[in-house]
Amino acid sequence: MPRIPESEIERIKQQTDLAALVRSRGIELKKHGNGNLAGNCPFHDEKDPSFIVTPSKGLFHCMGCGAAGNCIQFVQKFDGVSFRHAFEILNEGSEAYSAPPSNPTRWSKAEEATRPLKKATIRKLDNPLKPEAQDIELLDQAVDYYHERLLKAPQALDYLRKRGIHDEEVIKAFRLGYSDRTLGIRLPARNRKEGKAIRERLIKLGLLRETGHEHFNGSLIVPIFDSQGHVSEIYGRKTGKVSGSASPHLYLPWRQRGHISTIDN
Ligand code: ZN
Repeated sequence: MPRIPESEIERIKQQTDLAALVRSRGIELKKHGNGNLAGNCPFHDEKDPSFIVTPSKGLFHCMGCGAAGNCIQFVQKFDGVSFRHAFEILNEGSEAYSAPPSNPTRWSKAEEATRPLKKATIRKLDNPLKPEAQDIELLDQAVDYYHERLLKAPQALDYLRKRGIHDEEVIKAFRLGYSDRTLGIRLPARNRKEGKAIRERLIKLGLLRETGHEHFNGSLIVPIFDSQGHVSEIYGRKTGKVSGSASPHLYLPWRQRGHISTIDN
């Protein structure tokens, strides 16, 4: 699984206004001295606030149940999602809890007290695949999504540089991409009708495996287009270590064609 670089995690922690984030989840916070804020803990039942937020450190802890952590861990626990998913929710950003650019660290105490409470609107990540799309369009949309992800993935861009591709124009012209395991978390939940339906289609298209994991996870994506400009095949090259006898080369399982297997190493 591609790991999120430490610097990216640090950036999200710096960018997120934890108090606003906590409030966006419907938790009322009041001043608690020493610049701290307190509210009723969302992780256990209580009448007297013992859930403490320290905005200057971007940390929370509950004196009742011991829950504690940073903004990513808060989303993880509150929304019941994976670390990766929580990171993406915060990375997607929401005006409601991103610190203002003029103050890249966090809100001052005065601002904290007077700041109007906005409800966070982004809790679900946008799904880049349109359920009404034809299969061929779904492939195009997935490739567009992988392309966007590559431009935001320093480790995959590094890999490309090592392979001699430095030019962003080239990356754009060939719509190169990167699968960072985030497509799956953007789909509607698998226990919902539309979530199940789109997953079944993606399995048929070869983008997801029967297990629900992304076929090209951790791979550089090289799409191949037909004469109409639609994606007709995808070549994936694992950018990390490949275990044992596994191949670093991947194709859409249903489209294996002899003539493109000449791409070497
Ligand atoms: Zn608690």
